[in-house]
Order: sequence, then C-alpha cells, then structure tokens
Amino acid sequence: MLKPAKLDSAALAARLQKGDRVALAQAITLAESSLEEHQTLAGKVLKVAFNPSHSSKRLAITGVPGAGKSTFINALGTWLCKQGKKVAVLSIDPSSEKSKGSILGDKTRMEELSREENAFIRPSPSSGELGGIGRRTREAILLCEAAGYEIILIETVGVGQSETEAQHLSDIFLLLLVTGAGDDLQGIKRGIMELADIVVINKADGANAATAGHYRQTIANSVHLFPAMDSGWIPQTLLCSSTESTGIEKVWNTAISYFEKAELSGYFQEKRKNQNQYWLHRMLEDKLIADFYNSPVYKTLKDSPHNELSTTQDIKTALEQYYASLAKK
Ligand code: GDP
Repeated sequence: MLKPAKLDSAALAARLQKGDRVALAQAITLAESSLEEHQTLAGKVLKVAFNPSHSSKRLAITGVPGAGKSTFINALGTWLCKQGKKVAVLSIDPSSEKSKGSILGDKTRMEELSREENAFIRPSPSSGELGGIGRRTREAILLCEAAGYEIILIETVGVGQSETEAQHLSDIFLLLLVTGAGDDLQGIKRGIMELADIVVINKADGANAATAGHYRQTIANSVHLFPAMDSGWIPQTLLCSSTESTGIEKVWNTAISYFEKAELSGYFQEKRKNQNQYWLHRMLEDKLIADFYNSPVYKTLKDSPHNELSTTQDIKTALEQYYASLAKK
C-alpha cells in the first residue's frame, strides 16, 4: 500500500510529466483510493502535472462481453502505437469478473498492446458503485493525459448504465456488434444505439465475412432512422476483424473525421465544457452527501425510531440541525 506521508506529490508529478508509467500507475492508485488523504495527493499531482493545452482524444468503446472489445482495443491500440501515438486504455466496468483489478488479467487480454512502449493499460477499478468509478475514471483520464497520452480508449460493457457514464467521459462513442448474437443479447436497446457515433461490426472474417456484410447493411439502415445527433454527425457503420486487424485503419480514419468536424463546429469544445460542469456538480454532490452521512446529525436520525409517518418536516429539521452544526465549526 502506498504511504502518502512518504509520497512527494511534486516529485510524483515531475515523473508523471516525463511519462513514467510507474508514476502514472501510482497516481491513478491514489485517485482510486477511498482514503481522502490519497485523493488529495492525487489532486495535487494533477494540478501540477496537467497541461490544458495538451490535446487528447477520448474514445468510449462498448459492446456486450464476447463482442471482442479487448481484441479490438488490442488491434486498434497496437496500430496507433505503430503510428507513433501514445495510447492509454482504461475501463469502466465495476461488475466485470475478468477485470477484478488484476493487471495480469488485462495484460493477457491485450498482449500485443501491452508490449508496446507507447501503451499504458490500466485494469478497471475493482469495486465501488458506478458513480464512484466514473469519477475515478475521469481522474485516471486526466492523469494519463498529463503523462502525455494523447489517445484514451475507455472500455465499457454494453449493459446500459456504464454507457451513460461513458458519455460524460468521452468525446466519441464506438459500439461493437457481432452477427448472430441476437439484438437483445447485444443490449442493442435503442438508447445505446442512439449514442453510437460509429458502429463497428466486428469478426467480419472467415466464414462470417458475408453475414457480417449483410448485418452491417441492416444496422446502417436502422441507424439512419434515428433522430439527428446533437453533434450533427451522421453515424457510420463499418466492418472490421480485430483478430486479422482488417478495417481497423478505416475505423480510426472515421473517428478522425468525426473529431475534425466536431472541432470545427465547436461541438467538441462545448461537450468538454459541459462534461467539466457535470463532474463539478457530481463531485460537489458526492462530497455534500458523504459529509452529511458522516455527521452526528445523520447518525442520530438513522438511529431514531422512524416509521411511515416520518415526514419531509423531520428531514428538514435534521438538515437544519446539520447546517447549524456546520455554522458552529
Ligand atoms: P470482450 O468480452 O468484448 O472483451 O471480447 P474479447 O475481446 O475477449 O473476445 C471474445 C472472443 O472473440 C475471443 O475468443 C476473441 O478471440 C474472439 N474475437 C474477437 N475479435 C474477433 C474477430 O475480429 N474475429 C474473430 N474471428 N474472433 C474474434
């Protein structure tokens, strides 16, 4: 366990800025810690190391387990590293059996990528409710950017709630689908489909290539029926094989054209601004709630006999007592 007293935030920030992956991993561990002392240190590191002029691209990649997310990220990430890019991989997946916070688990999933000097792969935060993981993932993104990573791939599992969270963390949303899994199984609820800027039909190889082609057309037809996106972007539906690394470059070029359009229209900047506001409010709310729950007033309220007759008035009184206790501090 890291001993905060022994950690010098300025030294850690300096190592981070030089792109030291061990320092980056340490800083993320601090940000993910539930100890306030650790979080404060992570905040200090970020304040020193973060360079707002550094431009980055944040991509959320989703799909049900088995759709090939890790294989796709491995292929895309490796290809990007070969183009000289620095790529970080993070995930929001509180329930994943395979992540469980094990570095080895994620490294073997993305073996080729983990050998790249320009890649940083961080396993999912192993526990915690989703909201907490979102905040921690956000700090991890910023720390990766401070360490010079220009492309951040955020993996989420396609089950609903983590996609909403990913929307607040990423610039662009990629949905990975495969043929034969059945739309229901793939969680292609309209909501998730409507979020996708790029739909990628993965495993378009071997005997499956032709079926994947037909499936792409079906998906492309339905995507066109969706209401226009706020960004003005028309969602694209592409084919790829992550195991054979085909179609990967096209996916990237499509993402780049999304970024170019979004930056030109100001949508990119606006979205980042709204995300900053969202996280400010979230952090504020989390802190207020945590402080209240830790207060003696809440403990008394919780232990007092209450029943169905507990009213908003009781809550109001408790909150008034809490505010009064703050004023006395
Ligand atoms: P995840 O659960 O979404 O991360 O999926 P994985 O990346 O672990 O892939 C699930 C399985 O599908 C593995 O056995 C992969 O080898 C396989 N797979 C992934 N991508 C492809 C692909 O493009 N073509 C083929 N044929 N198999 C793939």
